[in-house]
Amino acid sequence: MIPTTEEARAWLREQLLTWGAANFAAFPWRTPASLWHALAAEVMLQRTRAEQVVPAYNAFVQRYPTPAHLAADPDSAVFATLGLHWREPLLRDLARALADRPVPQTLPELLALPGVGDYIAAAFCSLHLGQPATIIDANVVRLYGRFFGFATDGETRRKRPFIALAQQMTPPENARAYNYALLDFTRELCTVTPDCPRCPLRPRCAYAAAAGVGMG
Ligand code: SF4
Repeated sequence: MIPTTEEARAWLREQLLTWGAANFAAFPWRTPASLWHALAAEVMLQRTRAEQVVPAYNAFVQRYPTPAHLAADPDSAVFATLGLHWREPLLRDLARALADRPVPQTLPELLALPGVGDYIAAAFCSLHLGQPATIIDANVVRLYGRFFGFATDGETRRKRPFIALAQQMTPPENARAYNYALLDFTRELCTVTPDCPRCPLRPRCAYAAAAGVGMG
């Protein structure tokens, strides 16, 4: 059980939505030409900084307008050029699986695709389909742990109390905007080295209070 209150969760949710609306980052995969490109982008973004993915994504979109184009193109050199060499097997498996069918639009069907795990499926459903899915990764764990003041480790994201908190935090009617806000906030402010002085959550953040930068 993670000790939070509905009032604190609602405050945090509103702060993140407000900040997110004002600081939305217009990465190219946020207005993708197709669901194929949107799903491929989520594969590229796993454990990679968004800024690094931009040129690779743009080149990928030009070269592989459909999964069938990638499935039929044996040229591996291009992946090294794009800086995507370690994603190549995943993207090729995905392209083969989607070469003669539409990109699925439900969590169970997405999870059945090669290389698509919980995070990619949830991100795709919420960000690209507008479904009420909850995204959980190391950045989300770090933010909630700091703000509410509970200890986290590499296993936190898989623990039921944390998953329950993340689900409580995600507004079903506005999951897309909330999840974009989470992504942008944890990339810009609550990073590994947090920028607490610029942070709107500072007045109520447990981490900032403990660090002596909570107020003022
Ligand atoms: S005040 Fe600092 S630690 Fe707390 S949420 Fe903001 S950036 Fe993160």
